[in-house]
Amino acid sequence: MVNLVLFGAPGAGKGTQAERLQEKYNLVHISTGDVFRYNIKNKTALGKEAKTYIDEGKLVPDQVTINMLRSEVEKNKDAKGFIFDGFPRTTAQAESLDELLTSKNAKVDAMLALEADDEILVKRLLDRGKSSGRKDDANEEIIRKRLEVYYDQTDIVKSYYQKENKFHSIDGVGSIEEITERLSKVIDQLK
Ligand code: AMP
Repeated sequence: MVNLVLFGAPGAGKGTQAERLQEKYNLVHISTGDVFRYNIKNKTALGKEAKTYIDEGKLVPDQVTINMLRSEVEKNKDAKGFIFDGFPRTTAQAESLDELLTSKNAKVDAMLALEADDEILVKRLLDRGKSSGRKDDANEEIIRKRLEVYYDQTDIVKSYYQKENKFHSIDGVGSIEEITERLSKVIDQLK
């Protein structure tokens, strides 16, 4: 099993790269943001609970997110490994992920962190907002709130994986293909 945490601020390119890597390495891609949006669209209880946080650019509470992530992992019993996209976003989530994978005799093999300057991120998100239909991409104030939340609560998760020598910083500026190449170089060395 190979389990990857694809990390980065909003707009860093996690979703785009995860789509490419899941095919290339035959892994299951779990995007917690996508699962929340699916639940909002289908008006489930989880969707209703998550919506207000997401619309305001805040994090959905840990326990809600962790329970959801666990059930997504359980749905994929035959997976050869996972790409976690947008999870973990707090140290508590990182600890829960370790517990969950340990119970399956697995582990996180690497955190791949896509890095780009804030102004690039804001521009990408505003551009994406024109077509994504995402409320949280449509408004610069909400975008800046999401970046603030990232630096306040999420960036620290890097140090969790640095301590375990699993942290890899990847330049997130370039063509989609170039960035996939940079990520692949790290993944290929894990095997
Ligand atoms: P994303 O698609 O990763 O940009 O996530 C969109 C929104 O979903 C975030 O701004 C959060 O409100 C929520 N969200 C996604 N993943 C998490 C997570 N791991 N923890 C808490 N909230 C999350």
